[in-house]
Amino acid sequence: MNITVVQHPLAKHYLSILRDSDTQPESFRAATRRLCYLLLMEATADIPLSDTTVTTPLAETAGFNLDRQMVAVPVLRAGLGLLDAVTDLLPDVTVGFAGVQRDEETALPQEYYYKIPDLSDSWVLVLEPMLATGGSLSWAIDKVKGSGAKDITAICVVAAPEGVKRINDDHPDVKIVAGGLDEGLSPDFYIVPGLGDMGDRLFGTF
Ligand code: URA
Repeated sequence: MNITVVQHPLAKHYLSILRDSDTQPESFRAATRRLCYLLLMEATADIPLSDTTVTTPLAETAGFNLDRQMVAVPVLRAGLGLLDAVTDLLPDVTVGFAGVQRDEETALPQEYYYKIPDLSDSWVLVLEPMLATGGSLSWAIDKVKGSGAKDITAICVVAAPEGVKRINDDHPDVKIVAGGLDEGLSPDFYIVPGLGDMGDRLFGTF
């Protein structure tokens, strides 16, 4: 399976807060944001830099600039929970939105919104916190590829093996970075043990 699970102790700590069913939305949002910083460290580990020169108060020295336009694409609505950390760490990021809902009976993705800037020459981060069946993420990756994206990384809070396999099969070129890799899916396609419905827990809509 092609996935990078971040092993940093702080990532494990914040993921445990998210898993705890007693964690209330305000704390849940904060833990999501903090975990996302750690996922971003891994997701951006290979971004290209260009050389520059900076002048410190003491001397001229080598410096670096980000060499590519970064674009974040949260998959609505739970992906919005990851966006604050992304715009904080990458202040020049541009943001597109991909709205998809799961048909409750078939679990197939249904598009309801898509607004994305041109993605050619960009480094694209698709924010899909719960990689369950992989249907929504595979759909979102199809869409961003259709908008010109080539370098694509998916950032997930928790992944199920079924979803990882689906993305590896459909999009072997896409890197997946996650906070945890769980056991599997429940009969109604929730990740087990997971953390429940990410959107509901972020936004208090139980
Ligand atoms: N979406 C969620 O929010 N949670 C899951 O466990 C699976 C999909």
